[in-house]
Order: sequence, then C-alpha cells, then structure tokens
Amino acid sequence: MALTEARRDSGPRSQAKGPRSIAILGSTGSVGCNTIDVVERYPNDYRVDALTAHSNVDRLIEQALRLKPRFAAIGIETLYGKLKDGLAGSGIVAAAGRAAVIEAASRPSDWVMSAIVGAAGLEPTLAAVRRGAMVGLANKETLVCAGSLVMKAVADHGATLVPVDSEHSAIFQVFDFDQKDQIEKIILTASGGPFRTKTAEQMLAMTPEQAVAHPNWSMGAKISVDSATMMNKGLELIEAYHLFGLPEERIEILVHPQSVIHSMVSYLDGSVLAQLGTPDMRTPIAYALAYPARMATPGKRLDLGMIGQLTFEAPDPVRFPALRITRAALKAGGGAPTILNAANEVAVQSFLSRAIGFLDIARVVEETVGVLNDTAIGTLDDILALDAQARRTAGDLVRKVMAAQ
Ligand code: NAD
Ligand code: MG
Repeated sequence: MALTEARRDSGPRSQAKGPRSIAILGSTGSVGCNTIDVVERYPNDYRVDALTAHSNVDRLIEQALRLKPRFAAIGIETLYGKLKDGLAGSGIVAAAGRAAVIEAASRPSDWVMSAIVGAAGLEPTLAAVRRGAMVGLANKETLVCAGSLVMKAVADHGATLVPVDSEHSAIFQVFDFDQKDQIEKIILTASGGPFRTKTAEQMLAMTPEQAVAHPNWSMGAKISVDSATMMNKGLELIEAYHLFGLPEERIEILVHPQSVIHSMVSYLDGSVLAQLGTPDMRTPIAYALAYPARMATPGKRLDLGMIGQLTFEAPDPVRFPALRITRAALKAGGGAPTILNAANEVAVQSFLSRAIGFLDIARVVEETVGVLNDTAIGTLDDILALDAQARRTAGDLVRKVMAAQ
C-alpha cells in the first residue's frame, strides 16, 4: 500500500490481530531508545522481533535481554563474540555484520523502525520496503540518498511509509492526499539550531560541543550538527519532496525557534493546517507505531498559555548556505542529492573529530557536489557507487582543508 493509499484505506488498527511485531533498526540511538521507551509501555500491543546497533554492543545486549527479541544484530563484525556471549542462554539469535542488519529488516515483522543514521540505513530500509512492511521512517538520509528508488519500491511492493521526522509527521497528519491538487505549499518549520543568533564570525570558531547542544531537541551527534548548519532542514526539504510529491518551489522553510508548530500545509482557500506539540520525539514515534490508530504517550502536554509567544523569521541564506546548496542539489536532480548527502556525512564526521572547522562543513559539501555533478543514477548499485565516490572526494577535500590550516 503506497503512502497516499494508506491514509484512505486503513481503518483503526484491529487489536484482535494480536500484538504488532516490530523490528527496531538503530535501537541504541536517540530515536531507537525513544521507540523502546514507547513500546515498553504497551507490552500487549507490541512484540519486538529484532534489534540492531552498530557499535554499542553493551546497550544492545541490555536492550535485548529486557525486550527478548528473536534476533539481535550488531553492525561491526568483530563484536559478534561479545554479543553472542552476552545473549548466551537467552534463546536470542545473535548475528553481526552489514548482512545481519539487513536480515533484521527482512524478517517478517509487521512494522520496522528505520532509525539508523546516515546512508547506512538505505539497504536495511529498502529490505523492509521490498517485503511490503509498514516502515516508520526516521532515517531521512535514505530518502536524500535514494528518494526516487525508495518511493518507487514503496509503490511497487505495497509498503507503507509513515514519517517519523517530526516535521514530516506533522505534514502527514494534515496533508489531504485525496485533494493534493488543492494544496498550495508545505511550510517546513525549523528551530534555527543552536547558532541561530550567532554572527558568521562567531560561527567560525564553534566547537563540536557547542554544535551538538541543541536548544529544543535531544538527538544524536550527526543530526545535531546538521541542525546547527541547517543542513538538516535542507535534507528535510528533499525528504518532503519525495514523501509528498510537491515541487521544490512549493516547499518553504520558516524559522520558528520555539519548535511548537512542527510544520504546516497551506491550501488554496487560504486555510493553513498545522500540527503542534511539545518537542518530544515520542509523539511522532507513537503516531507511526500505532498508525493508523493513535496511542497515548507520556511527556509534557503543550501549554500555549505558558509559552505565551510563538515567533517566526525567514532563514538567513548567508550564514546558513546549506539551505541554498540543498535546494540547488534537489533542482539539479540525478545524483546530486546522493553526493550531497555522502559529502555531508564525511564533513560532519570530520568536524566532530576536529579535523575541520564548523564553516568548512558546507564548503566541503558544496565543492563535492560541484566536482561530481551531472551523474545519472538508476539502480541501487549506481547509488552505492556514487555514494562511495562522493565520500572519497569529500575526504580528499577535507585533507586539503586540513593541509591549509
Ligand atoms: P544516533 O546517532 O543517536 O543513533 C543512530 C543509530 O544508528 C544507533 O543505534 C547506531 O548504532 C546505528 N548506526 C550508526 N551507524 C550505523 C551503521 N553504519 N550501520 C548500522 N547501524 C548504524 O542517531 P539518531 O539521532 O537516533 O538519528 C537516527 C536517524 O533519525 C537519523 O537519520 C536522524 O536524522 C533521524 N532523526 C532523528 C531525530 C532525533 O530526535 N534524534 C529526529 C528526527 C529524525
Ligand atoms: Mg526534523
């Protein structure tokens, strides 16, 4: 069932069918842990079938012993022994390596949380889509890297993609797929990140610690840096383009520092529909987990009287060039977004390891897209090859920046 059809055809989830079996890809990360937090509150409604992590084997073992999935996979192969020992006697199958993470997604669970960070999530997410699963999609890089391929697979295999990214969850909740021609535009809201009010000169000296200290959301390191550069909003622009099928010029970005309005949809009669809430990822996670029903979450309720004021401002294209770079990549099409995503992953890692400065991130990304532009992509192999090539080029550019320092 395609994303749009799912909205039309599904009634409330039938409890008579028993618990929904789920796989959590990236269970040790920020979204993964929030997903577990929600699921553990409803032991009768959800049964965890599989968990995966990349390197945090201790947390994976602890989660697995608590949730008792049938299968647990660690991405780094050399950690297999540790995982197997940690799960000895539990009856949980331990596995390791990239293929094991893909296997976790390929097992016949009803629902898959795609919460791996980066393009590393593409193949596992695609495996879940290709068996027609319902997928909660947090891993936006999957759509940036391979949006057309993934959306085609969703349609071809009757999968259901429910966005977990808070902005896209908001849009999904107020986007009338039956009357798409009545929609004028999408307004993606952005917090502006931790450096919203910093001057370009101040931004030059920002450290990884400062960049990951997001004012409203507690998230993994990569997405936190992406929020500081506002590359995150650029990636979300591309994500929205694929999920909702509106042209790039009808997706607007608006800075809203309080992160209360999670995004809006504007209709041709002048109505603007929005979804609001406190900044707590458990709300969009719960929406996707229970979809098409709803479920209660803990967490603070929105109190607009206490908040008092909601403010808005246009994003600054000079201090946040990532917005221009991502729009240009989306317009260029072909492999440009794939290159952009891979270069950004390399640049963010290089910044986090203090190899390059904060403002170098957008430079490395823009230069990589410039060097490798005009590449057409079709198959998954094309995309993976281009992703690898872009990582090499971005790595060379990082070394150049380092040599010039
Ligand atoms: P995180 O860094 O906290 O967690 C990432 C997870 O992915 C971990 O479980 C890690 O083990 C796993 N992982 C990392 N590299 C891997 C690899 N090569 N192979 C297999 N697994 C790997 O990240 P996060 O903040 O939870 O974000 C996850 C995804 O959700 C990202 O795409 C992010 O953009 C998106 N997202 C996150 C939030 C948030 O609040 N954190 C909000 C919206 C969207
Ligand atoms: Mg978001």
